[in-house]
Amino acid sequence: MVRTQLQARGINDRRVLAAMGKVPRELFVPPAVRADAYADRALPIDCGQTISQPYIVGLMTQALELTGSETVLEVGTGSGYQTAILAELAARVITVERHALLSQQAQNRLAALGYRNVKFLVGDGTLGAPDEAPTERIIVTAMAQRVPQPLWEQLAEGGILVIPLGMPDCQMLQAIRKIGGQAYSEDLCPCRFVPLVGAEGWPEDLSAP
Ligand code: SAH
Repeated sequence: MVRTQLQARGINDRRVLAAMGKVPRELFVPPAVRADAYADRALPIDCGQTISQPYIVGLMTQALELTGSETVLEVGTGSGYQTAILAELAARVITVERHALLSQQAQNRLAALGYRNVKFLVGDGTLGAPDEAPTERIIVTAMAQRVPQPLWEQLAEGGILVIPLGMPDCQMLQAIRKIGGQAYSEDLCPCRFVPLVGAEGWPEDLSAP
């Protein structure tokens, strides 16, 4: 997976490649799709959600430019796979999920793997984690039409926010830097994510499985 899906497509951050070679992806997918754990695509998880394609996880993580000292806010814990990759590469991870079941499953997986630097929150991640702000890095693993205002406000000066923006059938993955309070965005790749549902996101009915 690391060689054919990541390196071959331009993921070259050594730390990202090492983390993705280390975290056992098969522990993050439901038993029914375990044989496909390393397939080159997203896979279904509980609550009608998905675990992202390995390449997209690599691309989003690389775009965060983590050196090991940062705190990262993740919106959309899902399976917890991206969370584990972040826990390998950052000092601290705060991850928010709206489905309590998914959050609990992810907590169990990360505890079993020995991660101690992750704080799990259940709730509407479009509102961010105000108690933890400002945050140096923010990653949103569900799609929105625009950056939720609370997340932009909670992003530290000089910080990076990675998020898929667009409409339900097609989005552009973007890395947005906050410099002098201004947004500078870079397009990473076209993609398709499940919706970000919440007060500053899509209405509930868009996410019904
Ligand atoms: N990184 C995850 C992706 C999970 S899919 C993985 O690879 O497993 C996106 C997740 O975002 C879903 O679990 C969905 O329930 C969650 N989500 C959607 N809207 C949210 C919100 N407002 N706050 C928190 N989580 C949300």
